[in-house]
Amino acid sequence: MCGIVGYIGKKEAKDVLLDGLTRLEYRGYDSAGIAVAVSGQTHLRRVEGKLQGLKDLVKANGIPAAGLGIGHTRWATHGRPNETNAHPHHYKNVTVVHNGIIENYLSLRRRLQERGHEFASETDSEILAHLVVEALNEQPDTAQALRAALSQVKGSYALALINHNDPETLVAARSGSPLVLGVGEGEYFVASDVPALLPYTQQVYFMADGDVVTLHQGSMELSDLTGLPKTCEVKRIPWTLAMAEKEGYKHFMLKEIFEQPRALADTFRGRLRIASGEVDLPEVQGLLEKQNFLSGLQRIYLIACGTSWHAA
Ligand code: GLU
Repeated sequence: MCGIVGYIGKKEAKDVLLDGLTRLEYRGYDSAGIAVAVSGQTHLRRVEGKLQGLKDLVKANGIPAAGLGIGHTRWATHGRPNETNAHPHHYKNVTVVHNGIIENYLSLRRRLQERGHEFASETDSEILAHLVVEALNEQPDTAQALRAALSQVKGSYALALINHNDPETLVAARSGSPLVLGVGEGEYFVASDVPALLPYTQQVYFMADGDVVTLHQGSMELSDLTGLPKTCEVKRIPWTLAMAEKEGYKHFMLKEIFEQPRALADTFRGRLRIASGEVDLPEVQGLLEKQNFLSGLQRIYLIACGTSWHAA
């Protein structure tokens, strides 16, 4: 299901991003990354695997101090779970994190390649950075360029984007995947879920499908996909961190039980071919294609304890 965090303000962006991603870890992921921007430069750190690996990398290599950045934990839908496919994705001056699926990315990618774009990853998400760079050639406003890019895209997204030539701006947009805006004192946060925001603010706005938000230190604009301004109704949520993590359920066990349908759907997301009714699981497919694999099995071990043992 993966997670997004974005920050603009006076704090050290990398601390907010790593902390936010830690609070979204429950969502599950296969790789992680952060990017911070200072004028004219973007600095990326990405790893395959656990968030701890990213924290270790940032500790070992450092990352420049910045008040603007974006972070991501990925659950791969397009392209292997490795470092190159990990988000953030970067093209020239534009860097993006994305949750969801860009359904028409292949045709968009082909068109961009014909115009000389080179792609670094196998993901559908990278297309977004390329489209925004193209749109910025037509007009210099980052949010407007994002809206122009999104008008070409079909699919679902929650995204946060930075442009190191416009280092005072963080833009975010949502359609079909969740995104929450957090409003602090002269600073803003975006995240896939409330727990990432709660240590910093309880003032939030749950973004609606079609919302695009432009954030500067101390000011913000909310609009729809055509650029029409919208009123941002920020609410104070009276949740503690523990309540947010339990999403209103009395116990984590209850939450986990009720989450099962969503957890299954998220696990298969991007691996289902609706039209043909096929499930795309290359790891399992290889085994099943081996002759007599199933009939050759003598015994299957399911290793678990507690509730997972009962499920097994
Ligand atoms: N479709 C994107 C990818 O495969 C985003 C996956 C996600 O939501 O984490 O990189």
